[in-house]
Amino acid sequence: PIYLDNNATTPMDPRVLEAMLPYFTDKFGNAASRNHPFGWVAEEAVEYAREQVAKIIGANEKEIIFTSGATESNNLALKGVFEMYQQKGNHIITVVTEHKCVLDAAHHIEKMGGKVTFLPVKEDGLVDLDLLEKSITDKTILISIMYANNEIGVIQPVKEISAIAHKHGVLFHTDATQAVGKIPVDVIADGIDLLSFTGHKLYGPKGCGALYVRRKNPRVKVTAQIDGGGHERGMRSGTLNVPGIVGFGKACEIALAEMESEAKRLGALRDKLEKAVTEMEETYVNGNVDHRLSHVANISFKYVEGEGLMMAMKDLAVSSGSACTSASLEPSYVLKSLGLNDDLAHSSIRFGLGRFTTEEEVDYAIEVTKKAVTHLRELSPLWEM
Ligand code: PLP
Repeated sequence: PIYLDNNATTPMDPRVLEAMLPYFTDKFGNAASRNHPFGWVAEEAVEYAREQVAKIIGANEKEIIFTSGATESNNLALKGVFEMYQQKGNHIITVVTEHKCVLDAAHHIEKMGGKVTFLPVKEDGLVDLDLLEKSITDKTILISIMYANNEIGVIQPVKEISAIAHKHGVLFHTDATQAVGKIPVDVIADGIDLLSFTGHKLYGPKGCGALYVRRKNPRVKVTAQIDGGGHERGMRSGTLNVPGIVGFGKACEIALAEMESEAKRLGALRDKLEKAVTEMEETYVNGNVDHRLSHVANISFKYVEGEGLMMAMKDLAVSSGSACTSASLEPSYVLKSLGLNDDLAHSSIRFGLGRFTTEEEVDYAIEVTKKAVTHLRELSPLWEM
């Protein structure tokens, strides 16, 4: 099948693999070994990658903590701030459309005695800024709102959110996993205190991510969630994944250099796909179309049965609004939070274009989608009425 699921993960860029390879073989040293060249070589590579990773978000390299991915970064941000700032308060604000790892970390914090507000979103997927500000109390220590959503691609008004947070002396964390490398992200201009991202969404390796933790104005601290040898300034122990970090760094460098042209190219392809597909009746684009990543289209097909749709589209590797990976056939909570009913959520498809997507593939995706939807509707008694 044709791969159009680049929000789930991206294939690794061959240039990234090439940069990583020596660190699996000759340059195998432990970056924490200070007594011999094997260690120095590894450490030098890690520090170079740290600069590459910092640069793509406008940070200083000292502000980057390497982790095993965005799941760990989000856990460290939420739980680490909760533990570190408990003198100040115990209240955290987040949003219902966050990734599971943020929502579940927040639920964990509730079990540890914290209070969490899960804000709804508007019909277009954006947060209501008035509601956000009203939710702040004198116990609020953190606002955690994602930069761009993984299912619908909607980009939140991050600058406005950080301004509200800072007006009330509250820290702002953002899960920027889907945004970094796709759109300009700048921790200074955006007013971000903590930011999570990961290698495998930007054509780097899986199992390697980072948490940005601001060091100036204000200096932010998090309590380590993995204790041990005191790596990463004591905030995340464990021998560093040197090849992964090298690859993550290279992936950031490439993404930054090619971001502008790629966003344009993919935007044109996405618009072509979206235009062609939405020519069909009763077909709806989910999420705010003006504040959206240019490579994502999430589209609902009314009067089409969700499971049948996925089956008919098996030549395309896409995601559906059904979480049909497990035994549960729950419709997507993100789409439901926009006000979609279960049926419409089930019959939704996320098309995620990427660096290796070609125009021919998009043309084929249009053909397959139109054929599938038309065919299923012909079979549907609801459509006939
Ligand atoms: N946050 C968002 C928005 C995501 O899309 C993902 C990817 O699945 C994650 C977090 C988790 O990232 P990782 O797979 O690196 O743990």
